[in-house]
Amino acid sequence: MTEVYDIAIVGAGMAGASLAYFIEGARVLLLEAEDVPGYHTTGRSAAFWVPTYGGPLIEPLTTASKLFFDAPPPGFCDTPLLTPRGGLHLAPPGNTGALDALMREFSGSPLGFERLDAVAIASRYPLVRPEWATAAIYEPECCDIDVAVLHAGFLGGARRKGTHLVTGAQVTGLTRREAWQIETRAGTFAAHTIVNAAGAWGDELAILAGVRPVGLTPLRRTMVVLATDPPPPVDLPVVLDAAGSFYFKPDAGRIWVSPHDETADVPRDTAPEEIDIANAIDRFEKVATARVVRVERSWAGLRTFAPDRLPVYGFDDHIPDFFWCVGQGGFGIQTAPAAGAMAAALLQRRALPDAAIDPARYASGRFS
Ligand SMILES: Cc1cc2nc3c(=O)[nH]c(=O)nc-3n(C[C@H](O)[C@H](O)[C@H](O)COP(=O)(O)OP(=O)(O)OC[C@H]3O[C@@H](n4cnc5c(N)ncnc54)[C@H](O)[C@@H]3O)c2cc1C
Repeated sequence: MTEVYDIAIVGAGMAGASLAYFIEGARVLLLEAEDVPGYHTTGRSAAFWVPTYGGPLIEPLTTASKLFFDAPPPGFCDTPLLTPRGGLHLAPPGNTGALDALMREFSGSPLGFERLDAVAIASRYPLVRPEWATAAIYEPECCDIDVAVLHAGFLGGARRKGTHLVTGAQVTGLTRREAWQIETRAGTFAAHTIVNAAGAWGDELAILAGVRPVGLTPLRRTMVVLATDPPPPVDLPVVLDAAGSFYFKPDAGRIWVSPHDETADVPRDTAPEEIDIANAIDRFEKVATARVVRVERSWAGLRTFAPDRLPVYGFDDHIPDFFWCVGQGGFGIQTAPAAGAMAAALLQRRALPDAAIDPARYASGRFS
């Protein structure tokens, strides 16, 4: 007879892995279409932790995650999850309004900001061209995240609690009887509850289950690794255009640049377009005094958003035993510890780990 799991999570990226990690005392099946978990968006991020990224309704999840990042449970990992980097939000030439908007957005938050004038920017960051060095905000808490270690820590911890991970197991059919019957490319399974952690495929999975989609849009984002002359200073912060046309940061003597593209795409193994690589180089050269020597590598990934750009966590309003864990957009790594813990508590109807975070704002019912 087929074993009936309590919970089957579809998708073993950061969303599914972090949720699996925080589930307590249940038989959990984690199904992943690819042979390697993390192949899609999770493995393609810029790997930063920036408290302001995603806006004030994402910041509580990011800030709450910091506790876990700084002090993960014993045995979770052998190396630090975060490395301090700092963040520098630059005003585009003639547009200090973009900085004012950022300050206004976070006026009620405890985040520390330092306003920098032209003299301070020039003396601290000679890499920034004078026309971009008129005004800036320094966000000191920003860090790099070791994404691979975080993801492996969640998967390893989940496995130690008994989670059964099956790769190469694309879910192709979902039928609800007494339990969900789950057809996959690796065989048939059964579970009482389905969790949709399928990233860009979240709406497709919902349709497969007879659940109304929430209206997810996968938006392509490109990253380009540049060799520059001179190489970037190792202590350069992540540098962001406050108006949102690029960000870049140093990594192992190279520069990682994104042109901040958001091109509507479809769920797939997406790849960078020439135009976005060219935009990345052009935007970097307009801001930085360093010369681009060559493109070493580039990739693209899908950042998947719900219509209001907030994630979706919680049971579906209409189909019982179908739980949403999607729409992590551009913040799914930096929010994973707090979001995973919150989602697991919602899924198991336990007390929420952080009373300051209201899960109602992330409920799927807001789209009904
Ligand atoms: C260029 C770029 C930069 C980014 N930078 C950052 C950053 O600096 N900080 C940050 O916090 N976030 C960042 N993000 C966002 C972050 O990467 C995502 O929010 C996060 O990875 C989403 O995780 P996920 O598990 O939802 O998606 P995914 O990693 O895509 O996982 C979903 C999984 O579901 C599987 N799946 C889908 N359908 C099925 C099915 N039918 N059956 C079985 N399995 C299925 C897929 O194979 C996939 O592995 C960035 C994203 C991009 C693209």
